[in-house]
Amino acid sequence: MVHNLSRVFVLFMVVCVGSVPWVVQSALAGANHSIVLLEYRWVSFPLKVYVDMNEWSIPDYAISVQEALDNWVRSIWNYSETYRGTSLPVVSYLLYLSNVNATTDYDIRLTFTNTTIPPGSKIVGLTVCDWSLTTFEPNPPISITVTTHSRNASSLYVKNVVMHEFGHALGLGEVSENNTSNGPELMYYASSKKLPIYPSTLDVYGLTRLYAAEYDHIVQMPDYIPYIMLSQGTIPVGQGSQQGQRYYFPILVAVSVVIIAAVTLIMLRKKRKHEEATTRPSLVRSKGLNNQMRTS
Ligand SMILES: [Zn+2]
Repeated sequence: MVHNLSRVFVLFMVVCVGSVPWVVQSALAGANHSIVLLEYRWVSFPLKVYVDMNEWSIPDYAISVQEALDNWVRSIWNYSETYRGTSLPVVSYLLYLSNVNATTDYDIRLTFTNTTIPPGSKIVGLTVCDWSLTTFEPNPPISITVTTHSRNASSLYVKNVVMHEFGHALGLGEVSENNTSNGPELMYYASSKKLPIYPSTLDVYGLTRLYAAEYDHIVQMPDYIPYIMLSQGTIPVGQGSQQGQRYYFPILVAVSVVIIAAVTLIMLRKKRKHEEATTRPSLVRSKGLNNQMRTS
C-alpha cells in the first residue's frame, strides 16, 4: 500500500512538474502578438467558393482568387507540418466560376465591385457573415466583396485583398501589428496591396485556437513560435522546437532529479522492509533453536 502510494506520489510530481513548461509558456506568451478570433468556424471541408465573374472582373482575377486560396492552404499545411499535433482540420476548397462551372450550392460567394465599399471610402474588401450562436457555424453563404477599381486593380492587389477577406471567412479577426519579422501581416486591417504577402504564423496559430473552439477571443501567440510571414516554403525547420527546448531543459533536469529522488526513496524503503522481514524469522528460528537446545 505504501509502495503504491509512493508511485502515485511520483506520478503526481511528474504531472505537476511536467505541466510547468506550459504554465511558464503561458506566462511568457508573446504579449506583443495577438489576434482576434471571431465567433464562428467551419466544421467541414472542402469549402465551396463561388466567384461571380461580373462586369468588374477580368479573367486574371480568377487566377488571383485561386492563388489567394492556395496561399492559405499551403500556409496552413506548412504550419501544421512544423507544429504537429495542432487541432487544425485540413483546410481545402473547391472553386466555382460563374462563367465556367456555375453552381447555386456554395459556402462562400465572392463578388467584384467597381468602387470602394460603403460606408467607408477606404474599404476595399468586405466580408459579411451570419452564424449560429449555438453551433458557431456560419449560415452559408458568407459574402465577400472586393473592389477592382473599375478593373484597374492589379492581379496582386486583388489577390492580397481576397486573401485577407478569406481569413475573415475562416473566422479570423484583425491583427493590430502591420509587420511580421519578414514581411507584412496579412490580417492587419490595412495590409499591403502591393507586396507579395502570405498568412503569418500568428494567423494560423489563431486558427488552431479558433478551431479548438475558442470563439470570440483575443489570443496571444506563445514565444516559442517565431512571428513570421509563412511562404511558399516552410517555417525554418526546428526553429520552434529549438526555442522551446530553452525553456524545457531546466525543467527536464528538475523532473529527472525528482524522479531519481523518489525512486531512491522507494528503493531505500523497500530495502528496509526487506531487512525487517528477514530479521524477524531469524529471531523465531533462534528461539526455536533455544527450545531445541533445552530439550536435548
Ligand atoms: Zn479585415
